[in-house]
Amino acid sequence: MPAPISIYDTHGLDALRAEARFDPQLTRNLQSKLLRQFVADETALHGYPVSDRIALHTLELFRRCDSAVDGASKLLLRTAAGMLIEAVILRIETGRSTLCVSSQVGCGAACDFCATGKMGIARNLQADEIVDQVLQAGQMLVAEGRRLRNIVFMGMGEPFHNEEQLFRALEMLTSREFFNHSPGKILVSTVGVADAMVRCARRFPAVNLALSLHSARQDVRETLIPLANKYPLEALRSTIVEINAIQAPSTTLMIEYLMLAGVNDASADAEALIAWLDGLNVHVNLIPYNPIDDAPHLVGSDRPTCKAFADQLKGAGLKTTVRHSLGNDIAAACGQLVRQENRVIARQAEGVNRGAR
Ligand code: SAH
Repeated sequence: MPAPISIYDTHGLDALRAEARFDPQLTRNLQSKLLRQFVADETALHGYPVSDRIALHTLELFRRCDSAVDGASKLLLRTAAGMLIEAVILRIETGRSTLCVSSQVGCGAACDFCATGKMGIARNLQADEIVDQVLQAGQMLVAEGRRLRNIVFMGMGEPFHNEEQLFRALEMLTSREFFNHSPGKILVSTVGVADAMVRCARRFPAVNLALSLHSARQDVRETLIPLANKYPLEALRSTIVEINAIQAPSTTLMIEYLMLAGVNDASADAEALIAWLDGLNVHVNLIPYNPIDDAPHLVGSDRPTCKAFADQLKGAGLKTTVRHSLGNDIAAACGQLVRQENRVIARQAEGVNRGAR
């Protein structure tokens, strides 16, 4: 039996069609039903002549964790190499949903506050592994009578450390041939890989960008984000100026700002942020901190502090929102599982490699 042909391999599918001699429209219908309407696998394949020759998925659903409180679901998905990644469905309002996808297994950025960064593994996902998260979540949502509206790259990984596969995935998500998802409903969040942010804005000007800033003070930012040293605030500011000039004025770059008690939440921190953002077209999103076991020294700011900080920004004319955080109850339990599993698999893989040498 020849190797299965991927649903994204249009040339391969055409060759298969020529070989088995059936109507080319059947291939287009299959891609449309699956990637744009998110119908179930069996329904999509119904009537397709050589369905056993087609590979629809690159990831296997390992476990699904549903929040008991707010309708978020975390999907743990296994790659062919055996590693686990997470994709999170956020059912925000009736019918509307956001999917948070991973771009890597683990992450090399090692931010102090981030559970993924503490995993100590960084492996790139392939584009078809990135988009399979969208396909599987889209199918779940459609089965519930909902629609996938937004796709955010805020799961595991630093998207711009996997730039080539990220860009391929963005092509696939926005192309009419595949998902035909509106680029304005996609957001890529980054720790601040300045040059890659500009390349992304040039190639996908309608795709939204978010910068995880977390402090407008260079010394504080460096304590939280090791890469802040490589991409200093000055460089990031000129990057935003450049991106603002590339993107349509209606596209606002998002500034993410984690609220950490006694670290970055004082009035002077708000002042520094206001000064740094002066003249930029941005939207500030204040994020409540989800405590992680590996960072016992970090505590989230309390509500009155968040409100005062937000009010100070708003008073200075900045568009500011405070993120409503979903899925807290599943984050910890599921996140731990992913880390333990991946450590075991990574150790086994290293053992195999050593053995082979
Ligand atoms: N690497 C990318 C995307 C993944 S993280 C980035 O850095 O933006 C997505 C967002 O979640 C980032 O803004 C990140 O700073 C934030 N984040 C990470 N750990 C967090 C935590 N423990 N609590 C709240 N937000 C967190």
